[in-house]
Amino acid sequence: MIGFGQAGGKIVDKFLEYDRRTGSEIVRAAVAVNTAKADLMGLEQIPQEQRVLIGQSRVKGHGVGADNELGAEVAEEDIGEVQGAIDGIPVHEVDAFLIVAGLGGGTGSGGAPVLAKYLKRIYTEPVYGLGILPGSDEGGIYTLNAARSFQTLVNEVDNLLVFDNDAWRQTGESVQSGYDEINEEIVKRFGILFGAGEVRQGQEVAESVVDSSEIINTLSGGGVSTVGYARETVERKGKSGGLLSKLTGSDESIEDQLDSANTTNRITSLVRKAALGRLTLPCEIDGTERALLVMAGPSAYLNRKGIERGRKWLEEQTGSMEVRGGDYPINNSDFVASAILLSGVTNVPRIKELQQVAIEAQDNINEIREESEANLQNLVEDDEDELESLF
Ligand code: GDP
Repeated sequence: MIGFGQAGGKIVDKFLEYDRRTGSEIVRAAVAVNTAKADLMGLEQIPQEQRVLIGQSRVKGHGVGADNELGAEVAEEDIGEVQGAIDGIPVHEVDAFLIVAGLGGGTGSGGAPVLAKYLKRIYTEPVYGLGILPGSDEGGIYTLNAARSFQTLVNEVDNLLVFDNDAWRQTGESVQSGYDEINEEIVKRFGILFGAGEVRQGQEVAESVVDSSEIINTLSGGGVSTVGYARETVERKGKSGGLLSKLTGSDESIEDQLDSANTTNRITSLVRKAALGRLTLPCEIDGTERALLVMAGPSAYLNRKGIERGRKWLEEQTGSMEVRGGDYPINNSDFVASAILLSGVTNVPRIKELQQVAIEAQDNINEIREESEANLQNLVEDDEDELESLF
């Protein structure tokens, strides 16, 4: 996992914290790349030797502002430094690269596509992007940066997973505490998804467990992806029945049947909630090319029938012929969650809106630039052009 720029670094840092907290082992290795020294110093989990400061000769550790063209140039010039950090990673042990970046800024916005292009040339492992779109209140330049970076990055990665800050921002919060919460959401959603592909020691290996190859197959074919998520708290129980059966001593088989029907219903309703609720990138799910349903939770609360029904329902809703599904048993958890990866979505009004605002911003910027050149000319030159410059 490579975090490019401030948002990218912070999110990868959060993934590491999530891994430590839950034992998910999603991140085989983490690297942070930035042009701003202070941003790298603010990270907590990523090891010091895996933090790469680029562009020192150009920006002296102060960042590129929101200039993503400069971000791209600097990444190109110093790609060797990034490679140096990747050299310390046993790449043969990773399933894929994931480059995380905020697309509205400068360093990540410009650098992520450069790095993706480079990694694809050097390695055979898939290279995915996790791109963060700016909030619409961030202003024209951020929107323009994001629209240009999005377009470039989609073409360089094997799949671009998108998270839209705009859909997740909450009013009345400071930007920082707002981001902390948003980053938790990002890590929770993508964590369940990526965590599903990892087989941990001591984990029950159910028949229908999701394998990393299923995630890779769902993402293959490229394009843009979004993730839905829903969860419900459940009581912890053993595999042999609910709390109720122990208290009442009621007939095990009827109890089991009821349990199984409840489990199935819970799963199908969680699948609907995840797909129809807020997606990381809001879009129309009809027309999705491929999908993957992951049901996570204690194995006593997961059943094949529920997942099969959920999968069928997703097929109908998306019109896709390629909907995969499986379990992610987490036996010490007190919740059941469904995470749905919708890959190859094309009906995304938010992207069209972003592009429209970006074009307006671009036109305005050009207009203002021309105007201010003319204004400066007017100010500096005397009206009758009687004065001459020294040289
Ligand atoms: P860079 O360092 O030049 O790549 O730029 P930043 O990463 O600071 O900012 C780029 C964009 O990312 C901003 O416009 C925000 O939309 C977004 N952003 C910044 N920090 C965070 C964060 O912690 N979480 C999330 N979700 N988005 C962030």
